[in-house]
Amino acid sequence: MKRIGVLTSGGDTPGMNAAIRAVLKIGIHYGYAVMGIYHGYNGLIDGRIHQLQHQDVDNMVHQGGTLLRTARCEAFRHEEGIQKALKVIHAYGLEGIVCIGGDGSARGARDLHERGVPTMVLPGTIDNDMGYTDYTIGFDTAINSVMNEIYKIRDTMRSHDRVGVIEVMGRQAGDIALYAGLAGGTDIIFVPENKRDWGNAAEQLTANKLKGKLTSIVVMAEGAGGADEFKNFIRDNTDIDIKSIVLGYIQRGGQPTAFDRVLATRLGARAVELLNEGISGRAIGISENKIIDLDIVEALNIPPRFDNSLYELNDILAKF
Ligand code: ADP
Repeated sequence: MKRIGVLTSGGDTPGMNAAIRAVLKIGIHYGYAVMGIYHGYNGLIDGRIHQLQHQDVDNMVHQGGTLLRTARCEAFRHEEGIQKALKVIHAYGLEGIVCIGGDGSARGARDLHERGVPTMVLPGTIDNDMGYTDYTIGFDTAINSVMNEIYKIRDTMRSHDRVGVIEVMGRQAGDIALYAGLAGGTDIIFVPENKRDWGNAAEQLTANKLKGKLTSIVVMAEGAGGADEFKNFIRDNTDIDIKSIVLGYIQRGGQPTAFDRVLATRLGARAVELLNEGISGRAIGISENKIIDLDIVEALNIPPRFDNSLYELNDILAKF
């Protein structure tokens, strides 16, 4: 029986299980045995590979994380590691591999494709920092999680007439801060793509206080600075009562939203369809609600996009 493999690599994201499920079921539909590769590229180097069965994905579509586990793999960045992986791929008779992960994982997939292994990339990162696709798997869940935390924090800040500054993930991308901040009705959003002067932000918070608006919520993307640093800056320069909160890993866990499950399922299904057509080296994504595929190298060369108009819109909303 023909065999394909699937792996998750880099940081886990909600929706990875839905993608694995789609790869398995569509793989079976096309007559493949689908092999689960465990712990990212480590599993390809060490042969941590087992055939997936229906029961492995039963009841998994709603669970966050990844049933295949995930990891970073330094060895795979070097030719020696890749050569070991190629031997394992041939030993297991894998005729195609679906790699689910962020841009680092996509570079690993490119390396496999360039060495003759039919390979597909699915964008799996909560950061939404892959420019070739409108959305990555896990982003929608992450912004919903952050939005819900913003409202909880707002309750307690309002009770004490305080300002809260909330630090969110995203590495060098501001999309989590932007979308969750807008959905959470926040007053100031800090993103790495459009640096905002901290002195101006302090003036804005002071003006809010003078207008009688004692509670403001600030969202800080981790790539734009630290919430603790901003809190200290405000304490040093104003008489505003401010608390900082770093949300951390709660943003990466939790049940995937319907949007992420549907996205992951569509992307996973398309990856297997393309492998079945004998195509390799494609990054699968979504653009204007259509599933698209691009050459992996071309996809990696597209810088992450940032919707500055949405950022400016939040500034206007926060004024009134
Ligand atoms: P993400 O996929 O979430 O961006 P990383 O950047 O940590 O996460 O990458 C995950 C794994 O992908 C790395 O541990 C490594 O195995 C592989 N990888 C990352 N960058 C490269 C690269 N330039 N070449 C080959 N493999 C890479």
